[in-house]
Amino acid sequence: MNKKLICRKAVFAMLACTTLTSINAQQKEYPQPERMKPGMSEYWTPQPAIVTPGDIQTNSAPSDAIVLFDGKDLSAWESVKGGPAQWTVENGVFTVNKPTGDIQTKQQFENFQLHIEWRIPEDITGTSQGRGNSGVFLQGKYEIQVLDCYNNETYVNGQTGSVYKQTPPLANAMRKPSEWNVYDIIYSAPIFKDDNTYRVPPTVTVIHNGVVLQNHTTILGTTEYIGFPKVAKHGAGPIILQSHGDPSEPISFRNIWIREL
Ligand code: MG
Repeated sequence: MNKKLICRKAVFAMLACTTLTSINAQQKEYPQPERMKPGMSEYWTPQPAIVTPGDIQTNSAPSDAIVLFDGKDLSAWESVKGGPAQWTVENGVFTVNKPTGDIQTKQQFENFQLHIEWRIPEDITGTSQGRGNSGVFLQGKYEIQVLDCYNNETYVNGQTGSVYKQTPPLANAMRKPSEWNVYDIIYSAPIFKDDNTYRVPPTVTVIHNGVVLQNHTTILGTTEYIGFPKVAKHGAGPIILQSHGDPSEPISFRNIWIREL
């Protein structure tokens, strides 16, 4: 190796050393971020409210639920036509009393979790929509269909657990007539713009006998029998249970509770 090359290498080494020293000096001028510890991404308040779950043996309501039917009377309900709810209460359940029409909760709700159990009678007759038809109307406007869909074909957006005439259910989880069905419904109310259209549309999740039928489904508007969904501004509303008016419709309900969210 000649002297010139040795000299160049020495100069390069000195420059490299000077640069590194300079970078280290700059780094020392700034505070280094503290090393993350597990506790840095944890927060402890506010703690969620303590809710005592319902008893699995007796199928009771959670401690913070509003009980809408406890098997005794329809004091939380009234007729949609006006006056007291006159469906038949017997043996801890109540049953549609067709001539008296739909019933609704006296209380109005916004966002909620609703638990409701319903039963198609063993001797049900009829076909398609004329077989065990009822419904649960959210805020009095948006129907989640109740129907006997056990070996009963009908249009899919009118099946059990459909958002009626809008969104079919993801599955058919129907139990046989005479067995109890369970709906757990989680509903978020809409937020409206000044022009009375949705800024945030309503959404619904429906679980039927433990099976998801609606998964955070957007509701497009009112659930019309004839025509398409309508959007009109509204506030809190009741839960309405439908008396569909079929010749054979003694559908029964029990164990109804709601938790406001
Ligand atoms: Mg119906």
